[in-house]
Formats: sequence, structure tokens, C-alpha cells
Amino acid sequence: MDYKELAQILFPEITKTPADYEQIFPKRNLPEGARVTRMAPSPTGFIHLGNLYGAMADERMAHTTNGVCYLRIEDTDDKREVEGAIPVLIDTLGYFGIKFDEGAMGEDETSAIGDYGPYWQSHRSEIYKACVKYLVEQGKAYPCFMSEEEIEAIRKDQESRKENPGIYGKYAKYRDASIEEVKKHLDAGEVPVMRFRSEGDPSKYFEVIDGIRGKLSMPENVQDVVILKQIGLPTYHFAHVVDDHFMRTTHVVRGEEWLSSLPIHVQLFDAMGWEYPVFCHNTVLMKIDEETGQKRKLSKRKDPELGLSYYKQMGYFPEAVREYLMTILNSDYEEWRIANPYADYNEFEFSPSKMSNSGTMFDLNKLNDVSKDVLAKKSAEEIYDFCLGWAKEYNEEKAANMMANKDLYLKIFDIDRGGEKPRKDLVYAEQIMKFISYFFDDEFVYENEMPEECKADLKTILEKYKASYDPSDDNSAWFAKLKAIAVELGYAEKPKDYKKNPDQFKGHVGHVSTVIRVAITGRTNSPDLWTIQQIMGQEMVARRIDKAMNA
Ligand code: GLU
Repeated sequence: MDYKELAQILFPEITKTPADYEQIFPKRNLPEGARVTRMAPSPTGFIHLGNLYGAMADERMAHTTNGVCYLRIEDTDDKREVEGAIPVLIDTLGYFGIKFDEGAMGEDETSAIGDYGPYWQSHRSEIYKACVKYLVEQGKAYPCFMSEEEIEAIRKDQESRKENPGIYGKYAKYRDASIEEVKKHLDAGEVPVMRFRSEGDPSKYFEVIDGIRGKLSMPENVQDVVILKQIGLPTYHFAHVVDDHFMRTTHVVRGEEWLSSLPIHVQLFDAMGWEYPVFCHNTVLMKIDEETGQKRKLSKRKDPELGLSYYKQMGYFPEAVREYLMTILNSDYEEWRIANPYADYNEFEFSPSKMSNSGTMFDLNKLNDVSKDVLAKKSAEEIYDFCLGWAKEYNEEKAANMMANKDLYLKIFDIDRGGEKPRKDLVYAEQIMKFISYFFDDEFVYENEMPEECKADLKTILEKYKASYDPSDDNSAWFAKLKAIAVELGYAEKPKDYKKNPDQFKGHVGHVSTVIRVAITGRTNSPDLWTIQQIMGQEMVARRIDKAMNA
């Protein structure tokens, strides 16, 4: 069989060869050890935490080694395409600090930058065809004219005999078709798909080192997989191999759902005579189900926190989300962060081998804890600016209020900030607004009850407090007065005295101060009460005490 002739019949218009593309896309000129990574989304619209998780791995791996992280659009399946999906993806990832060095930058190919494009696969048809033509010339690919019905019938037949499904061996009807036969089909106007001619032996295993999972041993692929579809565009398998080779990707980070097709990819790289990139198969994000207490995959339907828009809407600081993702991306990040609380995360050495290979646990509570730590290190001004930006998008009324009362907000955000042990109660914008709501009369509510120990004395405590309150008292003078009221009414001056002799006292000074705290803030737990009142001013304090007396 003259494979050259067959290749020429099939791809007469293709004049370039893979060797030409080797020249067009030369090896990148990068420092030793630099990694080239990519994100390769299909433009399907929904952007989720898993995308960000993978993109962060790509970005860190490239940018901690002076490498390149590029964005390639896998749009070979136009049925799944959602218009406008790519700019949204770029914006959303950008919001979380992921910036690509090369590739797609906007709506379409005209936006792309870099020397290794096109970056939209739908524009790379000629490159794929040149590679398929080369495989045909080598006798490693062939045209297949089987109809869908024929393939379906084979599948059913295989099923009934409990055989492996697919087109391989004797089922690969056109594997050895003659040139005459091929011509006959072409002349009849039939358009073939192109299949890879597999020489794999299922009893043989090959080994490959996965960047995350270490050494893998898998059986060889036997299927004659489709590499070029009728529309002239490649399947994922072939596009991945061609693009990651010619775009000079060094590390392919992708979901574990691709692990099972690795034997196909390895075979295709071999057939083209190309080196493999380092495959890094990551894991899906899991959580503990609230109802069952069992581990399960995050689900689009059940878990709003899977969508990245959730974090924007709630007003999470992008830095907090990123910081948390780092802790689940690399097993020793948390330890590093404790040792280097103020270091730039660029100083952390990111490695795929420190990534999880067995289901990464995502925990919203843990994210909130990380967020508290991140926000505790911010200035009041930074918190204000971020929350204002959030409010402008999601709560206009709040935004107007924030702009009109900037000084007030800055004072509020500054409570217990700085110093050795800053308070850690701010988590995300929506929560922050709720957290500070007691500073505003129209939002004030009693969230907690008055302490049981003081129920009989509420009015007296409030009256005495109001009479004694003087905003010019400093914190200790203020507390001394509160103590005096407590003692006068039969409460212990110190909690430990009350604990020792509970029968001698009605309660202790902490209970009395809680009465004031609930009156002022509506809560039994709040930042420093003296400071809060200083910020509120005497009139508001008086209003709150009166309100509590009437309640
Ligand atoms: N387009 C593929 C996906 O979205 C990319 C997989 C890969 O990164 O190679 O799953």
C-alpha cells in the first residue's frame, strides 16, 4: 500500500509538514527549569472552583519558575459553546489574581497574544491536518467511513458478547482498505473520520511518571480512536497532543477524568515521535455533605459555593480565596504560612508533587477561617475600599451610606485592628456589613437575650449606667464605674469570686457588662464595648439604653 499516495488523496491542500511547524514554533527560549503550563477550557460558560483550583496550579507552576502560563480555547465542539464565555472566564480568573502571559485575552482569536498561536483550536485546523497527513504517510492513521448505525450495531454486538466496546482489531473495518476502496467512498461524496491505527497490545503495560501521582503503570491502548472528525477538527486526544507539543507545554495539569485516556495520548506522542510533557492529573474537589456527613464531589446543583460567582457576590477578598486554595493545593502551604505570616505567596515554592492525588477536600468553614486571618492583616482603609467596591455592585444603598460616612466606617473597621492580637471577626463583605450593622439605628436588632443572672435588675442597671456614663472617661475609668454598679447591686467584682461562692452573689461584673453590651449592640459578644461607644457618640448610646429600658 502506498501510504504517501493515500495521504495525498486525503489531504491534497495540505503542504506543510510537522517538520515545518517545528521551525514555526521553535523550542521556547526560557531559563533552565522554567515551566510552561496552560489552561485549556472549553467555552461552556459555567466557571467553577475546580477551574480556579486547576488554573492556580498552572499559574503557580509557571510563575514560580519564570515560565509561561497561557490560555488556549478548546472550541472543537461547537454544540457546547456558550457565547461570551471566554471574556467572562478571563475576567473571573483575573479577579482572583490569575493573569495569563500568552494566548486568549478576549472574545476571539484577534485578542490573542503570543508566538505559538492560533490559540483557538478552531483556527488550527491546518496544523492538525498536517499532523494527520504525516501519520497517514507513516501508515499510522487511516480514513474510516463507518456510519453511526454501523458503529452502534457493533457496540450492541460487543455488549451481547461481553467484549470490550469500540473500534479495534477486526471491528476496524477500514483499517486496511485499499486506495481503490477509499477512492470509491470519496467519489460517492462520503466524508471520513480519521482514525489512529493502534498497534497496542492489551497484555502489555507501559510506565509513565505523573507529576502529581508518581509512577503509573497502565495497559496499552488498543482502540483505533478517532483523531480527526468529519468537520476537519480534531478530537480532544489529538488536539491535546498536537497543541501541547507545538505550544511547548512542559506540564499538562488537567482533571483526573483524563487519566483513563492517557494510554491513547502516550501512543499518539510516540507515533508523532515527540517527547511527553509532564502529565499532572489532579483530583476533583470534595466536601462533607451536610446531611449525610459523607464525603462527596462538589455538585453544581447542590452547592452554590462551587460557582466562582458565589465568592464575588458574597464579597470574599480574592486574596482570601486564593490563600485558602493554596492550602488545599500544596500540602505544606499552611505550615509555611504560619512560619511566614507576612511573606508574599510568590516566595512559596509550589510543586505538583505536593498536590493531592485522592480527592481534595474543600471546606467553606476553613475558607472563612483563612479569610479572617487575611483580613486581620489588612488596614481599615483597605477593608473600606474593598467593601465599597462590593457594595457598589451588590448593594447601592449601602454604597451611598459608606461614601457619606467614610470616617465612621474607617473607625468601625479599625476597632481592635493592628497590634499583636488583632480581632478576627471580619470574613467577607456581606458578613462584614451584617457584623457592623448595630452601628446603624435602622439596622439595629436584638440578636441575643439579656443574661439570666440580671433579669431582675435590668432596669436598675440600665438607669444607673445611663446616669454614670461619661464619654470622656477612658476605658479603665469607664470599667471602674461599671464595676461599682455591679458591686452595689450584689454582683461579684470578679468572675472567680462568683465561681467560688455562687450563693453569695447574683452573678458577676461580666453579667452586668453583658446587659450593657446587649443594650448597645444587640449581642452578647462584640468588640471592645468602650471603643464602640466612643465611635457611636453619647446620643446614640443614650438612645440604645432608653430603647433597652423600654423593651
Ligand atoms: N478542554 C478540556 C476540558 O475542559 C481540557 C483538558 C485539559 O486541560 O487538557 O476538560
